[in-house]
Amino acid sequence: MLKLLLFVGLITTIYYLFFAKKKSLTSPRNDDSMEEAMIPCTMCGTYVQAKEALMSSGKYYCSPECLKKKQG
Ligand SMILES: [Zn+2]
Repeated sequence: MLKLLLFVGLITTIYYLFFAKKKSLTSPRNDDSMEEAMIPCTMCGTYVQAKEALMSSGKYYCSPECLKKKQG
């Protein structure tokens, strides 16, 4: 059981190292942290990635449904 945990930890570490490395190579821009920031939906409070959120009147929404709720 302990071995399994160590194995999972190792895989996770390697994954993150690889992912971070790959990311720095493919996107040298500094706005990555902004794109990956999690922000709460104004209507339902669900956290969504900033790049996937819908923005209206300076507020963020998780989906078109929540945006409609606000308007209707
Ligand atoms: Zn929502």
